[in-house]
Amino acid sequence: MKRVLIIGAGIIGMLTARLLIKSGVSVTIIEQGYAGKESSWAGGGIISPLYPWRYSDPVTRLAQWGQKYYPAVLQDIHHNSGIDPEYIQSGLLYLDIEDELQQAIDWEQRFAYEFEKLTGDDLKTVEPGLENNYQQGWFTPSIGQVRNPRLVRALREDLIKLGVRIEQQTRAESFISESQGIKGVVTNKGRFYADKVVLAGGAWSAQLLEKYLKTPKIAPVKGQMIVFKAEPGVVRRIVLSKGRYVIPRKDGRVVMGSTLEFEDFDKTTTESVLQELAQEARRIISALADYPIEKQWAGLRPGSVDGVPYIGEHPQLENLYLNAGHFRNGVVIGLASCQLLVDQLLEQQPILDPAPYALTEERLVENSRQIDLSTVI
Ligand SMILES: Cc1cc2nc3c(=O)[nH]c(=O)nc-3n(C[C@H](O)[C@H](O)[C@H](O)COP(=O)(O)OP(=O)(O)OC[C@H]3O[C@@H](n4cnc5c(N)ncnc54)[C@H](O)[C@@H]3O)c2cc1C
Repeated sequence: MKRVLIIGAGIIGMLTARLLIKSGVSVTIIEQGYAGKESSWAGGGIISPLYPWRYSDPVTRLAQWGQKYYPAVLQDIHHNSGIDPEYIQSGLLYLDIEDELQQAIDWEQRFAYEFEKLTGDDLKTVEPGLENNYQQGWFTPSIGQVRNPRLVRALREDLIKLGVRIEQQTRAESFISESQGIKGVVTNKGRFYADKVVLAGGAWSAQLLEKYLKTPKIAPVKGQMIVFKAEPGVVRRIVLSKGRYVIPRKDGRVVMGSTLEFEDFDKTTTESVLQELAQEARRIISALADYPIEKQWAGLRPGSVDGVPYIGEHPQLENLYLNAGHFRNGVVIGLASCQLLVDQLLEQQPILDPAPYALTEERLVENSRQIDLSTVI
């Protein structure tokens, strides 16, 4: 195999491209907008599923692999691109998980996670800004995070330096196929030919496929976020409470997220969500009331059934591969999912059993309007 064409320059398309070009494959990415400006730009960058015990083992296996290799990969991307993705091992403090504590402890023991119970002064030492009404929390010190807009910018620069061709404002509209399989893609800017094509179109992946083929169950799930222009030290840890989280960045800014909204491809933000997120952030860290909200935004997560991504060849069209449907965890599970896909493309020993992620009949539907949103979480 000499040439691979990737549709979509989000974190998934770009990490896939990076692995391929480092294996000597010629790679072109086509992107309908601009590289790294969709979900991969909008996310929180936490290198852990939010409540990891709620996910199935296939998600955990991808996450654990990523957590092991991310620090070195990020260092390499930083070094080659000259842009710091701002990886910090800030740790994650869980609050208000008493209802599911046993489940969390069982999971933590099964997967050998550090999960420390903190009370009183210990809790305050770990997160001094925490509101006084919290008496206990559970802390995982090893969890890290990246700053998404920096990470995608660094990745883009890294890929350009490595020799990947990135065609922006180029939308894949249909497939060029012969009896043996896919030969390329028709775009608004002309035809692109390749030996293999990878669809990494995030929330839009089903839209393109449904015109010609069965499609995986992927639907957009909107998440709104805000950021406080705070100072270093105001928040020190990622703190998660009742589905909402604060994430401290290196320069002191604090990101607060996020909502889960099924509103098709609409990315508008609302004042009511801004107020709700601000209130929740101040409920956890009251000092945030002293700092302005700098920005609000929304991104579209590629929601999939149980959050298990689709990784592998499409059963109806040879040489068309998918890597999509990472839902809330595209950063943490993306590194392993891209390696697993590349293992298949290069016919090498896979890092994990690929079966749970394959595009089997039961994971495909005729068109994306058939996707039952209640199953897509
Ligand atoms: C608010 C929010 C918070 C999040 N927080 C976290 C977190 O803390 N940790 C974590 O691990 N994950 C998090 N996520 C999830 C994570 O961001 C996503 O799972 C991940 O970004 C998905 O990456 P992607 O490359 O598949 O999608 P995207 O980044 O959306 O990229 C897909 C790209 O494909 C392009 N495309 C689509 N169709 C076509 C076409 N036909 N032709 C050309 N280009 C096309 C799109 O324009 C887009 O740029 C969060 C997401 C959101 C929205």
